[in-house]
Amino acid sequence: MGETPTAGTLATLSGVERTYGSGESAVHALRGVDLEISRGELIVVLGPSGSGKTTLLNVLGGIERPTGGRVVVAGHDLTTANAHRLTEIRRDVVGFVFQFFNLITTLTARENVSVLAELTGHAGDGQVDAVLADVSLTERADHFPAQLSGGQQQRVAIARALVKSPDLLLCDEPTGALDLETGRTVLALLQRVAREQHRTVVIVTHNRAIAAMADRVVHMRSGRITEDEPVAEPLPAQEVVW
Ligand code: ADP
Ligand code: MG
Repeated sequence: MGETPTAGTLATLSGVERTYGSGESAVHALRGVDLEISRGELIVVLGPSGSGKTTLLNVLGGIERPTGGRVVVAGHDLTTANAHRLTEIRRDVVGFVFQFFNLITTLTARENVSVLAELTGHAGDGQVDAVLADVSLTERADHFPAQLSGGQQQRVAIARALVKSPDLLLCDEPTGALDLETGRTVLALLQRVAREQHRTVVIVTHNRAIAAMADRVVHMRSGRITEDEPVAEPLPAQEVVW
């Protein structure tokens, strides 16, 4: 258990189902999803509101358990892991980035990142400052979220997700609250994380334009994957327009 190969498959979903409620009122958020994700891949998941994108991310990241099928991430079977083990996997393997940043408003940028670094045992050796430098926020490290622009806040959130060196970075509508120019800066950062740090990045969005920067585009509709295609020549994120 826990062996993480350096190349090849990072995650496999087989016949994954997620149903909320039961009987007449049951909502089938995922209806048999099969997906294999390679290490270092930058995947954009597209789909209309309600198609199951967030549920897919939550299942991949061990936030929710599927009600059917199997999920394996970095060699760990999330379907059979007990709650304690699931927490460990979520903590060590997965980083999350959300639409509305979810920063702690009473902590500075550096402290927001430090909290996660300490929780996950990555607080030593200047890692917090290194990751803040990676997202070009060294100068703003002592600012509170309210003193930062939306794009800067999202970069803090990305630094917070990256400080534990996750294999898998899951981003749910990461540019949903940002304007075009700022959104592109954030997307460029995510693209760089995949290219230079060889992390697997999954970006969920309803914005079709963002698909152009991906290595691979997965389309969802009504809880199912309807298309799954590689992108021949991914665009630099700076060139994405919406
Ligand atoms: P998306 O992110 O693509 O908008 P979601 O994964 O959030 O879609 O939701 C897929 C479906 O599952 C929707 O019909 C949504 O209302 C439903 N759903 C999501 N989470 C819950 C929940 N906790 N309880 C009940 N229904 C849910
Ligand atoms: Mg969603």
